[in-house]
Amino acid sequence: MSTKIDEFKQKIADYTLEKPERKPRQNYVSVLILRELQSAARFTTDGTEANSAVIRIGDTEATVGKLFGRKQVASDRRVAKALQRTLISEQMNSVMKKGVWDGCSMEVTKMCQRCPDCALFGSAASDEGISITSRVMYDEAYSIRSISTIVEEYFQNAPGDNYAKSPTSGIREPDFFKEGTLFPCVVTLKDATPEEVLFFLNITDRNTRYGATGTRFGKVRNHILGVYAGYREGPSSLEVTRGVAMALAGSADREKLKGILTADTLSLDMVCEAAVSVYESLAEKQRVKHDKFDTDYVSKVLSEMKDDAVVKEILETQLVKVGEYVSAD
Ligand SMILES: [Zn+2]
Repeated sequence: MSTKIDEFKQKIADYTLEKPERKPRQNYVSVLILRELQSAARFTTDGTEANSAVIRIGDTEATVGKLFGRKQVASDRRVAKALQRTLISEQMNSVMKKGVWDGCSMEVTKMCQRCPDCALFGSAASDEGISITSRVMYDEAYSIRSISTIVEEYFQNAPGDNYAKSPTSGIREPDFFKEGTLFPCVVTLKDATPEEVLFFLNITDRNTRYGATGTRFGKVRNHILGVYAGYREGPSSLEVTRGVAMALAGSADREKLKGILTADTLSLDMVCEAAVSVYESLAEKQRVKHDKFDTDYVSKVLSEMKDDAVVKEILETQLVKVGEYVSAD
């Protein structure tokens, strides 16, 4: 019925497993994503200061914004679990050995260890189960522009007063990453099933929140720029960010690079294009052979998953496949 999905599953068959297995193999499906902030976002660990890191681009040292891998995975799992609750609660009830499915949890030791999300993203051992290793690899992502360009510090004068941008008085509010900030990200699925690849793509397509939960901040649009399937792991998010900055600058020249690092805005199209060509040329240099599915191909696959019934079927198929994998007995 769903032709593009079937075709895609067939094409990635050599780089995926029919069923999840305990013993690791060498199958990698990497997804190149550009996360674009569509509203100001708070990515902070201490509650005030924006997460940053010093990276080297050519001969230039730059302090850029940082989006932790663990923040990305937590946000994606929240979406994955919510989706499962909507679509396969009934089916989950019937696979639970005692009682009903509680909908699974975000708390590491309280996860159900039976659902497709737990099987793919992993979970720690609870009282009876054994722990499941994650088969999705996220790494830290870095902004292209420098932290001083993309972060705004706010100070509140007094209760009720408006926000001020000057530190002259009052309480410092948590830093904001400005709208328009771009984070190139590579996420890699290892030894996944074709259904898990589809599940992951669907979650990425749906997820619009990567900041703190329950706030009006942190609206994100995930642009999936390509899917690369092979037997070796591809380039990292950091390498892509670095390469994009260089590509936009046209050279490693310090002044030209500075122009990009401090630019008011960057063209989304140009960044997307650069990210793809940087990723592919790095993969080539690193002798990574892969089959490529470009952004147009992936969006056709995603379009077929607009229909929840299609996603439901994928999750049901996956649920059968994880049966043995998740049961310790
Ligand atoms: Zn679970």
